[in-house]
Amino acid sequence: MRFVDEFREPELISKTADEIRRLAGTERHYRMMEVCGGHTHAIYRFGLKDILPDNIELIHGPGCPVCVLPMGRIDDGLAIAQEPDVIFAAFGDMMRVPGTQGSPLELKARGMDVRIVYSPSDALKLARLNPDKHIMFFAIGFETTAPSTALTMMRAKAEGVRNFSVFCNHVTIIPAIRAILDSPDMRLDAFIGPGHVSTVIGCRPYEWIAQNERKPIVVSGFEPLDMLQSIVMLLRQLKAGEAKVENQYKRVVPWEGNRAALKAMAEVFQLRPYFEWRGLGFISQSALRINDKYAEWDAEQRFSVPGIRVTDPKAAQCGEVLKGVLKPHQCKLFGRECTPEHPIGALMVSSEGSCAAYYNYEHRKAAMVGLGSIA
Ligand code: SF4
Repeated sequence: MRFVDEFREPELISKTADEIRRLAGTERHYRMMEVCGGHTHAIYRFGLKDILPDNIELIHGPGCPVCVLPMGRIDDGLAIAQEPDVIFAAFGDMMRVPGTQGSPLELKARGMDVRIVYSPSDALKLARLNPDKHIMFFAIGFETTAPSTALTMMRAKAEGVRNFSVFCNHVTIIPAIRAILDSPDMRLDAFIGPGHVSTVIGCRPYEWIAQNERKPIVVSGFEPLDMLQSIVMLLRQLKAGEAKVENQYKRVVPWEGNRAALKAMAEVFQLRPYFEWRGLGFISQSALRINDKYAEWDAEQRFSVPGIRVTDPKAAQCGEVLKGVLKPHQCKLFGRECTPEHPIGALMVSSEGSCAAYYNYEHRKAAMVGLGSIA
């Protein structure tokens, strides 16, 4: 398949891994953060960690939108869904994320009307098909998914569909990176920049990381060769004492971003003064709210929202894992109380969550080796 096979070419992968070993040498340790949960997933899925030299450490960043959502927002969304005639619609990723009263799927089992949708426009379709119900779409994601929410709201307004609203949990990536860099316990040399978000925002918003923080950043694709090439590019910068933004994922990411998507977001959203992130606390101007022109389609303005604040279970170390301070398996609950079948934190639920990725690839692989299995 074009754009896949050539980025999984074994010989090229092997040559690029050799180049990484040559550039990395042995004299120093490199700590690189992959911001995006999709990259974390690719690292474990393709076993990239196993072909990197020991002195290159990959730190998992906060780029999994389900993982960074605090439990209180899930409870708030589910509280609205308990209003009469409300249908709770969300992406499949959200369905098993625990709130204090259970996950959306568990509440569905107890009688709540919960539907999985594949896009916000599917939720709008549900509203057209169910005029006697109110469809509340639980919107989540970085700038990657925010434009499709915005376009759907514009369509709802244009068509006058009034039994549809959005509970907006969209967040923005740059303030999260800033919070990571401001964290006193975080020491990083470079960033593997997010591929999906950058298709919308482009590469320019990362320039301050290079200029002010003197950290190289390479926006990367998701195939094995993409990620290895990005590591080569970062090592070359670090060896030359440079810090700049580079775009390895040019086949998808335009330097200036997607103007039409940015315009749709500007039409519907405005920045919240602050927003709570799981593990990172309150970060100013880090999330989007629906502006007053679209108040009628804003679930937070249409319904009374309890504004629940919940702390994670004491032993759960999701915050430390999200900040990259701990590796997933270093959490006390990993693989025992917390597994993909019985998740305690969202990082064990989402396909982009580092705990789920680590469990599904590394932990199971280690278990099989232990059992002598060749399956
Ligand atoms: S193992 Fe579970 S509780 Fe621990 S950090 Fe991961 S998701 Fe959170």
